[in-house]
Amino acid sequence: MEKRVHNFNPGPAALPLPVLKEIKKDFLSFRGSGMSITEISHRSALFDEVLNNAVNRTKRLLDLDDSYHVLFIQGGASMQFCMIPMNLALPDRPVNYINTGTWSTKAIKEAQIQGKDVRVIATSEEKDFSYLPYDYTVDKQASYLHFTSNNTIKGTQWQQFPDREGVPLISDMSSDFMSRPFDVKPFGLIYAGAQKNLGPSGIAMVIIREDMLERVPDNMPTMLKYTTFKDNRSLFNTPPTFAIYVIDLVLKWLEETIGGLKKMESINREKASLIYEVIDNSKIYQGIAEVKSRSMMNLTFRLRDEELEGRFLAEATENGLIGLKGHRSVGGCRASLYNAITMESVKSLIEFMREFEEKL
Ligand SMILES: *Cc1c(COP(=O)(O)O)cnc(C)c1O
Repeated sequence: MEKRVHNFNPGPAALPLPVLKEIKKDFLSFRGSGMSITEISHRSALFDEVLNNAVNRTKRLLDLDDSYHVLFIQGGASMQFCMIPMNLALPDRPVNYINTGTWSTKAIKEAQIQGKDVRVIATSEEKDFSYLPYDYTVDKQASYLHFTSNNTIKGTQWQQFPDREGVPLISDMSSDFMSRPFDVKPFGLIYAGAQKNLGPSGIAMVIIREDMLERVPDNMPTMLKYTTFKDNRSLFNTPPTFAIYVIDLVLKWLEETIGGLKKMESINREKASLIYEVIDNSKIYQGIAEVKSRSMMNLTFRLRDEELEGRFLAEATENGLIGLKGHRSVGGCRASLYNAITMESVKSLIEFMREFEEKL
């Protein structure tokens, strides 16, 4: 067995080890076909089963009723920044955004490029996005209210989703999708780039409610319309078949090995609280995000000074603790504790953090 490290990468990120082993085992002959999953038609019965399973597992895990469609769309989460206003902004009505960091800012920019009436109803930019703004007024006329459920870079996360005044919510859940159960009913659309919590990069899972599809304008490029993906079950053209296969395996692991999203959430909360406990009781580590807003997926912190930070990161790497450097726009450190991060990895990190502080 090859050596594995404790992988805290922010994305692409760790996948569950049992999933990687299953991929390896089945790679040369998928389900006894004598062909790899990467060598079979996207229209074959074998792949059809994979796709159906991935969709049905998503529906079960999130308790989706038939009014929601599960789609796979190329281009990652960033493609959704542009597709959402293009498909779902209603004529002569504003679109509302809450700006909580780099990814929200990019989503806003894509709506502005298209000349939409973009209203940023709240922002935490003045404090460098270190908190979530809870005080704002939604335009009752808005086509939708867009927010980022977990801010991967700054380490903030909505524990309770924003109030919406009857306006459909749209959320970029890339970095905390499937980490906890939630009520989908207020949502017109949910999307997640796969490479944080779901599988390989380059693809987004999009969950869209039936009534939102009625908004899609006719005169749009085919590959940019949500209706194209819905009407063709994400098979209008050749989808990233390998990515969908891995996503299905990750969802199966979530259902069968973990036991669903409630279990996943309680594991994730425990992992995060153990590390926050070390940070909060330390003289050298200091959390970056405001306590009330902080994330259980991406834990951001600094050390007393930059020199010490450099030493911390270098020694962590020597100890097989990988990916702890903060995003270049923030600096500091970040531990990304996605679903696949085991309690064993968390305990190794805690032990390292404690020993590093003690020997100073
Ligand atoms: C990583 C990330 C993205 C970007 O995803 P791509 O698939 O690279 O486009 C967008 N939003 C959030 C919240 C992310 O964490």
